[in-house]
Amino acid sequence: MSTLRNVEIVGGGPAGLYTAILLRRRMPQTHVRVTEQNPKGATFGFGVVFSDQALDFLRADDPEIYELITPNMERWRNMTLNHPAERVVLDGIGFSAIGRLELIEILRKRAQSLGAEIRFETRLEGLDPTLEENADLVIGADGLNSVVRASDPAGFDERLDHFGNRFAWFGAERTFETLTQTFIRTAVGPMNAHHYRYAPGRSTFIVECGEETYRAASFDEMGEEDSRRACEAYFAGVLEGANLIANKSNWRRFPKLWCDSWVSGRKVLLGDAAHTAHFSVGSGTRLAMEDAIALVAALVDHADVDAALAAFETVRRPIAKKIVDAANVSAHWYEGFGKKMEHAPLDFAFDYITRSGRVDMDRLRRMSPEFMARYEAANDIPRIVDPVGRDVDGAAEIGFDPDAHPNCSEILWGNLPHNADRLAVTGPAGDRTYGELVREAARWGNAFVAAGLERGARIPFFLDDTPAYPAAFFGAVRAGFVPVLLNVQTNADTLNFFLKDTGAAIALCEADLAEKFSREVLKDTQIGRVVLVNAENGGPRESVFEPPTIFWRGNPRYWNARIQAPTIWRSGCILRVPPVDPRVSCICTTIWPIRNRASDAISWVCRQAMSVSPFRKCISPTALGTPSPFPSRSGLLRC
Ligand SMILES: Cc1cc2nc3c(=O)[nH]c(=O)nc-3n(C[C@H](O)[C@H](O)[C@H](O)COP(=O)(O)OP(=O)(O)OC[C@H]3O[C@@H](n4cnc5c(N)ncnc54)[C@H](O)[C@@H]3O)c2cc1C
Repeated sequence: MSTLRNVEIVGGGPAGLYTAILLRRRMPQTHVRVTEQNPKGATFGFGVVFSDQALDFLRADDPEIYELITPNMERWRNMTLNHPAERVVLDGIGFSAIGRLELIEILRKRAQSLGAEIRFETRLEGLDPTLEENADLVIGADGLNSVVRASDPAGFDERLDHFGNRFAWFGAERTFETLTQTFIRTAVGPMNAHHYRYAPGRSTFIVECGEETYRAASFDEMGEEDSRRACEAYFAGVLEGANLIANKSNWRRFPKLWCDSWVSGRKVLLGDAAHTAHFSVGSGTRLAMEDAIALVAALVDHADVDAALAAFETVRRPIAKKIVDAANVSAHWYEGFGKKMEHAPLDFAFDYITRSGRVDMDRLRRMSPEFMARYEAANDIPRIVDPVGRDVDGAAEIGFDPDAHPNCSEILWGNLPHNADRLAVTGPAGDRTYGELVREAARWGNAFVAAGLERGARIPFFLDDTPAYPAAFFGAVRAGFVPVLLNVQTNADTLNFFLKDTGAAIALCEADLAEKFSREVLKDTQIGRVVLVNAENGGPRESVFEPPTIFWRGNPRYWNARIQAPTIWRSGCILRVPPVDPRVSCICTTIWPIRNRASDAISWVCRQAMSVSPFRKCISPTALGTPSPFPSRSGLLRC
């Protein structure tokens, strides 16, 4: 255990008070003093929420405080999105809430009962050198405008920015059934209110809008009282006559603070002094308290204070970073909420619920079964299952059990959360990790869907053993198509028979074997496109386009196809499917309609591939047309 005689804590918010409790409890020989600018029993803001799982840390680490806090909390199981056209309930998204002042009072009383000294109404204008000299450790728990951080901004390596939206934190004199977000259109622009009850008869009510709306509403020219009244009028529909309450409810932009170093000498930062997390994820208070737990644990575990501080930073910072990153992604979603409101309520809600980018449809179905059932029924998105029926000839003989194996692509996708960086495929033609393979597979699947293939359509594969093979195979299966795997030794007659028999509109062919798809082989087939796989030089070879070996049959039906490129988040499960320039083609594989001349095609493909560096190494079939502006409607592959 570190030897600390005096610890000075600047800031009596959740981080400071909880640190005082833990220090006094676990290191009772240490004198702990908290300096707080506000009077006792006063603070800013109203209630704060904790997500369902967010309190688990407290239950596990500190049952005593957990028992003190939880009886004072309001709880609910669902969340409500009030889209202007319809109310959408997101079942299974539970939160609990408590008044900020109530929480602080619980912590304050416990800290004092354990012998921590708290001096109220003492604002530090800067870090007094004598305070530093007399303390073995100075803890900066003084929030966003930390004077401890300001004493050494370079040492703490602070990065401070702000999100674009404006918000004002009000209270409301009424309760709401669940945590609700009410999106409204007003004459001055779109607005949103985040509101939830935190005590009997009381709710938090945060009003948010973009810069344009903020100015059009003249919030920038209003005092607190005028803006309170204006917001009351804008949200009269949901307030149903209740008043809004102000408490330092000035309009602000939410800060985006991250310090790359939390320790400078014998000064250490905790909570909002070191990092901020947007209120939409309800994690700032929890982060602050978890920081306190980690710091005190490190001080208890290490005899040397400097080693303890280093250990605290090493262990805690990456964990906090993950949550802060998630909060930043969430905050960005709100930046364009006005545009998103144009979408149908269920699509809007789906976009909201998947805003983290880590979309796992099965997890969503488990978490919000009622919402997902509604959403999938409305969008006609069938579950991903093998297109092969259970009664197909021979199924029983080979032990095919669709209940046990709803889709064989699960083997690949199932490895993603745990083995994203582990090798999945290796061979002379290259290696792929599970993460890479899933990404390529998703692209293939999306391209097949975008090319207009019907579910259950057969896709002949005439391919060598390269990583493109399993990627295209799993992509096709996951998207509900049937790969028909053809031996590359197959002779022309038999190949023609297979192509006819499958009724396929698209076939995949190894580029080196392209000449096998002669006019005779394609005769009387439905093939509209042959996709050359692993073509050299970033595009189809010239001979492909020149008589007498032209075998591309451009079919205008496919020219309006769409493609979406998924992005993998290395830290977790994938998968966001943002729109990407649909004209982008990449190194290995190209679908190219016949109308283009070969030389144009090759130079265009090379230009595109080189200009879109993130995709340089990807295998991405090209499709033509404009990308869907709203991925959630397009029935894309998600894992
Ligand atoms: C609108 C809004 C809504 C939010 N909603 C939620 C939510 O629902 N859930 C959630 O978990 N988090 C929420 N947060 C974030 C949460 O409030 C913070 O993350 C949390 O309070 C951080 O705790 P802290 O102790 O680190 O800092 P703070 O709570 O900011 O406490 C810092 C303390 O230091 C004192 N202080 C500051 N400077 C000085 C000085 N110079 N001298 C003396 N004292 C000083 C302050 O008075 C204050 O008491 C929200 C934030 C905002 C802005």
